[in-house]
Amino acid sequence: MAYHLLQRDRPAALHLARALDHAVESVKHCSKCNNFSEEEICVLCRSERRETDLLCVVEMPADLLMMEQAQCYRGMYFVLMGRLSPLDGIGARELPLERLLKRAQELSCEVILATNFTVREKQPRITLRHYCGHRVSRFTHRTRIAVGGELEHVDSGTLAQAVLERRAITE
Ligand code: ZN
Repeated sequence: MAYHLLQRDRPAALHLARALDHAVESVKHCSKCNNFSEEEICVLCRSERRETDLLCVVEMPADLLMMEQAQCYRGMYFVLMGRLSPLDGIGARELPLERLLKRAQELSCEVILATNFTVREKQPRITLRHYCGHRVSRFTHRTRIAVGGELEHVDSGTLAQAVLERRAITE
C-alpha cells in the first residue's frame, strides 16, 4: 500500500499519514464500553436514549457496528477487543475482563454474550460468564450464530431474531 501510494498518489499518502497520526494521538478506549473513542466516555455510552438494563458483550468494534446497523438493540455494550481463546494463548489476562465485571456490576443488568464460540471451545463461555454477573444470556442455536458463527457475517433480520430469542445461560 505504501509503495502504491508513493508511486501513484502522494497527496493521498500524506492525507492517510496525517489521519493515522491523528488517530494514534487522539483515539483511546471508552472507559465504559472499551470501544474506540476520542472522548473519555463515548457518544453511545453518554446517550440518554440507550437502555441501561441490557449489556451486550461483543468481541470487536465491527460486531458493535453490525448490531447498531441492524437496529435491533438499544442497550449498552462492552467490547472485548479480541476473542477469548485459551487454545490460541488468549486467556482472561489478555482481555479486559475485570473491567467487564465492574461494568456488569455497575449496571446490575442482564448481560448478553454475543461472542463467537466454536464447538471445541466451551471453556471461554464459562470463563466469560464468571465476569458477567449473575444474569447472563446468549443467542440461541436456532438463529445459527450461537456456535461458531461470525457476528459480522449475519444479516440484520437474523440478528434481530437472535436478540429477541436469546436464552439464559444456566449451565
Ligand atoms: Zn462507550
